[in-house]
Amino acid sequence: MDDFQLLIDLHKNANRQGPGGDAESEKALNLAMIDRTAPLKIADIGCGTGASTLLLARLLDARITAVDFLQDFLDVLEGRAERMGLSDKITTVCCSMDNLPFGDEEYDVIWSEGSIYNIGFEKGVKDWKRFLKTGGMIVVSEITWLTADRPSGLQEYWKNEYPEIDMASSKIDILENNGYSPVAYFVLPEHCWLDNYYRPMQDGFEAFLKRNGNSEKAQAIVNAEKKEIALYEKYKAQYSYGVYIARKLV
Ligand code: SAH
Repeated sequence: MDDFQLLIDLHKNANRQGPGGDAESEKALNLAMIDRTAPLKIADIGCGTGASTLLLARLLDARITAVDFLQDFLDVLEGRAERMGLSDKITTVCCSMDNLPFGDEEYDVIWSEGSIYNIGFEKGVKDWKRFLKTGGMIVVSEITWLTADRPSGLQEYWKNEYPEIDMASSKIDILENNGYSPVAYFVLPEHCWLDNYYRPMQDGFEAFLKRNGNSEKAQAIVNAEKKEIALYEKYKAQYSYGVYIARKLV
């Protein structure tokens, strides 16, 4: 198995592939003042196995297009939707988030949790804007510095992993300078990282290594995840995901 297949193997049985939580997604939904009874069209970009897609389908009277470039994740999402009786509200699309097959002003809401960093926050909010109706909402989570100063080791790690990591004021600036009006911002609490993402992943390390013959590549993946988890545990006061909610102006 190559690295990519190994990463899929590690993550595809999880409820989520990044920090988040149902209560926090619902909080974002409330802050965005989304009408739960309106027949909205929503795109969930970088949906993974669909934690947020399924929540939105459950709470809203909406049609949701769930996008990810990994069909394996979408297959899991479809199975879950089927079991929850939500299939008729969800359409999956396997494609890259930088080449979305959507029409102009097609969507009322663009939702994206823990994913936009793959193309970068600025490019994402710029490129996706045309798919939103005027007055439509973007709800997007993005790794964010919580403090103005931070240890240099931490700074270096994240600058290397994601050079666009920044403070909320910069992210809000980007939204304002690209035709959005910020409506709300909040920080994902610790349990979104530890209970909902890292702990379930850690619980799966042993089985993952066993399944993959304890290969060097599998061990390297586990070690990288362990490093990321240790860093979070040490520096969780300094960074988290911010959830940004903004309205498209024109
Ligand atoms: N939103 C989900 C998954 C977050 S992990 C959750 O919160 O649990 C990031 C997701 O983005 C993964 O599912 C990954 O397959 C997907 N992804 C990464 N790069 C992508 C790209 N270029 N286009 C589409 N999806 C991508």
